[in-house]
Amino acid sequence: MTVQRRAVLEALAGRGDHPTAEQVHAAVRGRVPGMSRATVYRVLETLAGWGVARRVDHAGTPARFEVDSGAHHHLVCLGCGRIRDVRDSALLDLPVRPPRVEGFRVRDFTIQFRGLCRRCRRRGAAQERSHR
Ligand SMILES: [Zn+2]
Ligand SMILES: [Zn+2]
Repeated sequence: MTVQRRAVLEALAGRGDHPTAEQVHAAVRGRVPGMSRATVYRVLETLAGWGVARRVDHAGTPARFEVDSGAHHHLVCLGCGRIRDVRDSALLDLPVRPPRVEGFRVRDFTIQFRGLCRRCRRRGAAQERSHR
């Protein structure tokens, strides 16, 4: 594994907030001199291709990345875009049969619970108060 790949993986493993490529870049820039955002992005895609990392896409937000830590679901904040993991075995044992549509092979699936995190809810409440 190259120095660059190791740095990116370490940056990713050190945080559980599903950073964007930009945030990973900010974290590794100081450690690996001359590492461009394009390189970080390419390394992230490579790690995702290996199955070491995972790309998390939620509509309307930039792609985020995480170390592949097994099956789990996501809480997506509509306010700040932050994504938190949900590990609830009851949710993983859902009687879901992957649909078979036109030969499509389902590899995994994620349930997104979308809403507002505590911070964004507080901020919303404060804003409402100030508008009154
Ligand atoms: Zn939020
Ligand atoms: Zn996750």
